Amino acid sequence: MPNMEPKKTPMPAQDPAVRQHNFNEVALGYTHEMAVQEAQRCLQCKHKPCVGGCPVAIDIPGFIAKVAEGDMKGSFDVLSEQTSLPAVCGRVCPQETQCEAVCVRGIKHEPVGIGRLERYVADWMMENGGAKVEKPTPNGHRVAVVGAGPAGLTTAGELARKGYAVTIFEALHKTGGVLVYGIPEFRLPKAIVQREIDALAKLGVEIRTNMVIGKVLTVDELFEEGFEAIFIGSGAGLPVFLGIPGENLNGVVSANEFLTRINLMGAWKQDSHTPVIRPRRVAVVGGGNVAMDAARCAKRLGAEEVHVFYRRTRAEMPARIEEIEHAEEEGILFQYLISPLEILGDEEGKVKQMHCLRNELGEPDASGRRRPVPIEGSNFYTDLDGVIIAIGNSPNPLIRMTTPGLEANKWGCLVTKDERGLTTRKNVWAGGDVVTGAATVILAMGAGKQAAAEIDEMLAKA
Ligand code: FAD
Ligand code: SF4
Ligand code: SF4
Repeated sequence: MPNMEPKKTPMPAQDPAVRQHNFNEVALGYTHEMAVQEAQRCLQCKHKPCVGGCPVAIDIPGFIAKVAEGDMKGSFDVLSEQTSLPAVCGRVCPQETQCEAVCVRGIKHEPVGIGRLERYVADWMMENGGAKVEKPTPNGHRVAVVGAGPAGLTTAGELARKGYAVTIFEALHKTGGVLVYGIPEFRLPKAIVQREIDALAKLGVEIRTNMVIGKVLTVDELFEEGFEAIFIGSGAGLPVFLGIPGENLNGVVSANEFLTRINLMGAWKQDSHTPVIRPRRVAVVGGGNVAMDAARCAKRLGAEEVHVFYRRTRAEMPARIEEIEHAEEEGILFQYLISPLEILGDEEGKVKQMHCLRNELGEPDASGRRRPVPIEGSNFYTDLDGVIIAIGNSPNPLIRMTTPGLEANKWGCLVTKDERGLTTRKNVWAGGDVVTGAATVILAMGAGKQAAAEIDEMLAKA
C-alpha cells in the first residue's frame, strides 16, 4: 500500500539566517527513513510517465522500488544503467520541469521527490565504498573529447566503458566545467563532482588540463595525433552583456567572471589571493540559475542589499523554483518588470547608480513567455556600488574559427546533423551547451550519451 501523504517528505536544510553567511551545502539530504518513506509515495505506474520526462530515460519506478525495499545498492545499479552523474543530477536537475513535472502523484498533490531520492542513493553509494569500476579490455580505437563538463565527461565515460582509449582536453586547470566553475559549493559540493571524475580516471580516461583546443592544439592536429573521432563539449562560456552605456565601469562584472573567481579560484576564502568585487549594495541583472547563484554568492560575500532585477515577473523566471525560494529565504530582494537602461559612475569610474525603466507584460514571444513592454516615462534611478550581469552565455567561437568545415548558427552554436551530434565536419561530434546554447546538465549528458553511441557505431565498423 503506497504512502498517500500529499506532500513530498521535506528536505532538511541549513537555517537561512545561518547559511547566508557560509558556503556549506544548503540542502542536507534525506536520512534512510526519509528516503524509504518518500519512495513509498511512488505508485509504480505501469505506463511510467516519469521516465519520458527524464532526458536520459532513467528507470525511475525501478530505482525507487529498490529504495522502498531498503536495497540502496540495487537502486544504485538501476540508476547506473542510464546515468554516470546521479549525485550531481539529484542535486541540480530542474526536476520540476522534467521527471517530476509528469509524475502522476503531481496531478492532485506534490510529485514524488525523484531528484531527492536519486541524490540519496548516489550519496549512500559513495558513503558505502563507491561503485566498483572495472577497467574494460582496450579495443584499439582512440577518441579525443574537448571539454570536461557534463557533456564531455559523459561521452568519455560511455566510450571508455566500451574499451576506447579516451583523452579529454580541458582548457581550465580543473575538470567539471560549469559544475566546478559556475555552480557554487552551497548547491553542489566540489568533492562530489571530483568523486564522479575520479571514477572516470579509474576507467582509464586520460585527462589533460590547461589544453585550450584551438590555441594549444587544433582539431586538425588532434586527428594528426591519431585520434579517429573527436567530440566537442566546450559549453557556452562566453557571457552576453546588456549592450548599455556604463558596462565597462569599475564594479560591473559578468556573473561568469564573478562565479569563476569564487568557485574555481576560491575568492570566498579569507586567505585567498583572488580579487573579487565585494559590493555593499548590488544588483544582479537576470532571472536564471546563474543570476540566483550570483545573487546568493554576493550575499555570502557580505553584501548588505542584493537585488535581482528581472524584466518579466516571477512566473516567467527560468531559474529553478527551489533556487528562487532559497534565495528569497536568504533575503535576496527581487525587483520584477525592470529593464536597465544605463549604469552611471562616479568621478573615479566606479558604479554609482543604475538608470532603469519599468515594464508591463505584453503578448507571448517565440519562447511562449509574455514579452516585457517598457512603460513610457517610468524611468527611475537606483543607488548601487556593484552590478552583476547574468543574462546569458553563448559558445566561445575559438574552436569554430580554427576548424575548417565546422559550421555554427547565428548564435554561434555548432550545427549538428541530428540529435546524435555529428557536426558538419567529418568524424567530429558535438553536444551540450556548445550545440544548444546555455541549457541543463542532464541535457548535456543526454547529448554526450547519444554522440558516444554513434561514435561507437562508426568506429566499430572501421
Ligand atoms: P560546460 O559545463 O560549460 O563544460 C564545458 C567545458 O569545456 C568547460 O570545462 C570549459 O572550460 C571547456 N572548454 C571550453 N572551451 C574549450 C577549449 N577551446 N578547449 C578545451 N576545453 C574547452 N543546469 C542545471 O541542470 N541545473 C542547474 O541548477 C544549473 N545551474 C547553473 C548555474 C550556473 C552558474 C551556470 C553557468 C549554469 C548552470 N546550469 C545548470 C547549466 C549547466 O551547468 C550547463 O548546461 C552544463 O554544464 C553544460 O554542460 P557542457 O558539458 O555542455 O558545458
Ligand atoms: Fe529526473 Fe534529472 Fe534524475 Fe532524470 S536525471 S530522473 S530528469 S532528476
Ligand atoms: Fe512513481 Fe510518479 Fe513515476 Fe508514477 S509517475 S511511477 S508515481 S514516480
